[in-house]
Amino acid sequence: MLSDATKNEIRRLMERYPQPRSALGPALHVVQRELGWVPPEVEEEIAELFGLDPAEVHAFVGFYNMYYKEPKGLYHIEICTNVSCKLRGAEECARHLMERLGLKGWGETTEDGLFTLDHAECLGSCGTAPVMSVRKRGQELPRYYEALTPERIDEILAELRANADRPLPVEPDPMGPMHFGGMEPKVLLARVTKPNSHRLETYVEDGGYQALRKALFEMTPEQVVEEVKASGLRGRGGAGFPAGVKWSFIPQGVFPRYLVCNADESEPGTFKDRILMEYDPHQVLEGIIITAYAIQAEKAFIYIRGEYGFPYARLQQAIEEAYEHNYLGRNILGTNFSLDVVIHRGAGAYICGEETALLTSLEGYRGHPRLKPPFPASEGLYRKPTIVNNVETLANVPHIVKNGAQWYRSFGTERSPGFRLFALSGEVRKPGVYELPHGVTLRELIYEYAGGTLDDRPVKAIVPGGLSMPLLTAEHLETPLDFESVQEAGSLLGSAGIIVICEGTSLVEVMERTIAFYREESCGKCAPCREGTGWLEKILQRIRSGKGRKEDLDEILRIAKFIEQQTFCPFGPAAVWGITSAIRRFRAELEDYIEETNPTGEVPPLPVRPMYRPDVGMPAHERA
Ligand code: SF4
Repeated sequence: MLSDATKNEIRRLMERYPQPRSALGPALHVVQRELGWVPPEVEEEIAELFGLDPAEVHAFVGFYNMYYKEPKGLYHIEICTNVSCKLRGAEECARHLMERLGLKGWGETTEDGLFTLDHAECLGSCGTAPVMSVRKRGQELPRYYEALTPERIDEILAELRANADRPLPVEPDPMGPMHFGGMEPKVLLARVTKPNSHRLETYVEDGGYQALRKALFEMTPEQVVEEVKASGLRGRGGAGFPAGVKWSFIPQGVFPRYLVCNADESEPGTFKDRILMEYDPHQVLEGIIITAYAIQAEKAFIYIRGEYGFPYARLQQAIEEAYEHNYLGRNILGTNFSLDVVIHRGAGAYICGEETALLTSLEGYRGHPRLKPPFPASEGLYRKPTIVNNVETLANVPHIVKNGAQWYRSFGTERSPGFRLFALSGEVRKPGVYELPHGVTLRELIYEYAGGTLDDRPVKAIVPGGLSMPLLTAEHLETPLDFESVQEAGSLLGSAGIIVICEGTSLVEVMERTIAFYREESCGKCAPCREGTGWLEKILQRIRSGKGRKEDLDEILRIAKFIEQQTFCPFGPAAVWGITSAIRRFRAELEDYIEETNPTGEVPPLPVRPMYRPDVGMPAHERA
């Protein structure tokens, strides 16, 4: 079924990687572009090209939800229904879409074959929620439509129908509804609203790549590592590990080494890396080049989530420009340092944001986490020393190299130095990305920068660092947003994706939607996570539908404990912290809900296996 041209394109993809199997994921994106889906017969052809067993390709396809296992309509619409979108009207938009398209359920296709409708997990656009992604048959990259309303959906459907014979642009609607705010002058966001901020020419005009020149011509790799160490820059992906310290774990004398930029921003509530990639990709690229120089890597990868079509296109363009001007490639700017950068699209698996799962995925396998130690710095990609850093972390590096560690430390707090991109979403007036020093309080962020809450409703709960972090309450509004203070308050700063939930919003619904996400995204490797998240979802569905019992709350805590303590990777604890913290902090409200919706405490029959009946299905001699 594959044409020679497609096979040749796949062979060229294989050449980009030290091990050809890494190209398996990108190859399947190409297949899907050509055929509209991944038919089983093609899995065999792909297996032959890669020298794999067809079962391996089949398992790979099955793991990632962006590969279609069946044909779709001309347009595949996926609307996000995760928490930030839900808080801004996603359910109404989803109902409207279904009604307008005349569909009765997810996954259905309209009779004219134009539209297939699905719901999506977080699309990384929480600041412009609700959002939907549209993929057109024959095109590889999806397009986002943001700040949806039922009226806007009608317009979009009309546009899509009218332009059925034209390519779908990858560029989203103008980013009008997104708010950028924070300190002045800004650093990471300084250029994002300028015209053509993504182009090399404007980046260089604004002083871009000066830090790279300084690193290459005035500093040794060790001095760059020491400068970043001295700055105290901590990872922005979630764990907050000091970046320079991580770099120094690379074992001496072991080559090759790899740098991997983690652009798999999938934590619900987090959408700040996307802005950097879309509107200042050279800033990210300069950080990658300097970091690769510091750790002496000659190959770097950017692992970007598959849903991010526009950021991918922008980065790809920036990479091409950087090659043209010798910021990448052989003997960069006439030095002995060479670097190749490969951008690699994921295919819809939240777990690949975890660094070892990301590396497994990049090697061409299902994205299952690996046991640590060994840590990637000593044994990572292809079992070679590998540094995995988040997009925002890397974007900080040029500024630290250019201005020095002490400049960086003049922002923030002693133990959480520097500034940070806070991605604020949910029930606030001005959701968006805010660049502020560590230590700004939640109250300042919400009320001074983001204009307060929707309809001035009182704050009820706050997710401070991406959906996996324990909830805080209105009592924590004075908490400074730095790693230590948020931890002291009983949560974690994580990715600094902050979701605000106000009085009047049902916590039961938020909890149910939260655990549904983790049930959907569990990689399935260990039973407590794979099965337990489903059990928790069922209990929460029962409570929400008015059939809950107060004891259910303890049952949730009991099951969650197994998931938290007996799973293989950090996903397990992350999956349950949101709902266990809700029970601990809002138990009275949850009990009131149960009492109101199920006053008699009636319990529905449990779905047990059919009882053994001696008179049915037994051989006659046994019945006797
Ligand atoms: Fe996979 Fe969940 Fe186990 Fe992590 S905890 S390895 S995500 S099943």
